[in-house]
Amino acid sequence: MKNNLLLITFDSCRFDSFAQAKTPNISRLGSAERRYSYASWTVPSHAVYLLGASPHTSPKGVFASEVYKNDFKKWGGRLNIPDISFKGFVPRLSLPAFLKEHGYKTNALVSMPVLNQTTILNNHFDRYQLMKCHHDFNAIIDNLIFEKDKPSFYLLNVGETHYPYIIPGESADDLPRISGVHGVFKHMDDLVVGGGEEKEDRFFDMDQMRALHDKQRKNVEYLDGLFEKLYEVVPPNTHIMVMSDHGELFGEEGYFGHGPIVHEKVLEVFFVEGRIK
Ligand SMILES: [Zn+2]
Repeated sequence: MKNNLLLITFDSCRFDSFAQAKTPNISRLGSAERRYSYASWTVPSHAVYLLGASPHTSPKGVFASEVYKNDFKKWGGRLNIPDISFKGFVPRLSLPAFLKEHGYKTNALVSMPVLNQTTILNNHFDRYQLMKCHHDFNAIIDNLIFEKDKPSFYLLNVGETHYPYIIPGESADDLPRISGVHGVFKHMDDLVVGGGEEKEDRFFDMDQMRALHDKQRKNVEYLDGLFEKLYEVVPPNTHIMVMSDHGELFGEEGYFGHGPIVHEKVLEVFFVEGRIK
């Protein structure tokens, strides 16, 4: 029997925020590794994950082609399908296309508006949905449907770890609106509904940076709590991969956030995979 597959991204979750959080439920899948994303922001990073590549370990003394080859071979064990290789993904280089060919129902439930269903990422998906709330993993879990006679693939993009690092019921009114980080789509709303006066963006001081970093860690613990519910919903033959799409800067060298930043901390990500033990 082929395994179901969940590929879960904690958006913007920095490696140390995850490493410092208590995650007893996620740890049931395996231990978290330090890895590196191929991209420093949401869309290109998800594009790479959707072609079937995982965050890398930055190995030295080896050709890139070898690294890709070994990375793609891992799909065999994850999916319980023998003899998978990089060749099986050529020429389309698409994980959802590959899975559809193997009889999977392909689904995406995403939190970040930049990943919405009208983007180039929505290819070879049977179902692709931008969640109403951009930080509600609990609602995502409520929307999972597994079929008896067909394996399922789910891309789940989780927003509680993205700025402004809030969970349902919390408000971000006391935090600045940051254009390009959580601003662009809200600005579009303003154009349509005539929005209020724009608050001027101000940069955070180091105390605020520390508080934001700590809130990201706390939200990882909140998400870990929801994994208990997730494990009750997913069938036992499900391979689960959890990772961040990129890291986040909290004041190092004058940077905040991610995207147009060249810094190790924006590429450093956590990576956990396995089946529920
Ligand atoms: Zn992201």
